[in-house]
Amino acid sequence: MEKREKLYEGKAKILYATDNPDTVIQYFKDDATAFNAKKKGTIDEKGVMNNSISCKVFEFLAQNGIPTHLVKKLSEREMLVKKVQIVQIEVIIRNRAAGSLCRNYGVQEGRHLARPILELCYKNDSFNDPLMNDDHVIALGLATEEELRTIKRLTLQVNELMKKFFLALNIELIDFKLEFGRHKGEILLADEISPDTCRLWEVGTGNRLDKDRFRNDLGNIKEGYQEVLKRVTGK
Ligand code: UDP
Repeated sequence: MEKREKLYEGKAKILYATDNPDTVIQYFKDDATAFNAKKKGTIDEKGVMNNSISCKVFEFLAQNGIPTHLVKKLSEREMLVKKVQIVQIEVIIRNRAAGSLCRNYGVQEGRHLARPILELCYKNDSFNDPLMNDDHVIALGLATEEELRTIKRLTLQVNELMKKFFLALNIELIDFKLEFGRHKGEILLADEISPDTCRLWEVGTGNRLDKDRFRNDLGNIKEGYQEVLKRVTGK
């Protein structure tokens, strides 16, 4: 697999072309941002840990019937993925209240929700990723009705699968963000699934094992990621 030119550099990852037009390489950096990049830093070895964690989670989801962009893990920081056109929506599921739900709606952190909340946000940093409803998505042409139905169905399935996956590791899945892409007419789960994109609380202690350690200066940031890595990979 030959690595070619840089296609795109984001906040946490870089995409490189390969000699195959249908695949790209996702390279995981140590850079960390929060609050729409108002807070910036680096977390030592985060890229290595998030690549491993994401690969394991995508493999588990694929084994359970979820179509994902993962082809295979290439190296410590590199994942070979199917080239997709990213749907410009961030899909969030909340099982318990945290983060912006608490800030925007005055809900107590940790409150158990009567049912999961699925949020759609416009993936556009210039406008602060604003919340949107189905009508915004369809009317603005971000996705077709059929694509949106597929995205919501897959997201709810991923939630059920990931809740079980993490609970078996004594971790509670509080909330998470997914991104989807189009590849040869099919909707695939894309991007990454890691402590950068999920809130993960240790069962019993409520210890935060995710990026909230960075967002809220809770300390021992790297150790949180390491703990998730250890449990996910069994190492
Ligand atoms: N999230 C993410 N990228 C974003 C926004 C949110 O991965 O651009 C994840 C975040 O890690 C959390 C969930 O989505 O697991 C819900 O985030 P929230 O809306 O509470 O935003 P925050 O508190 O991070 O501003």
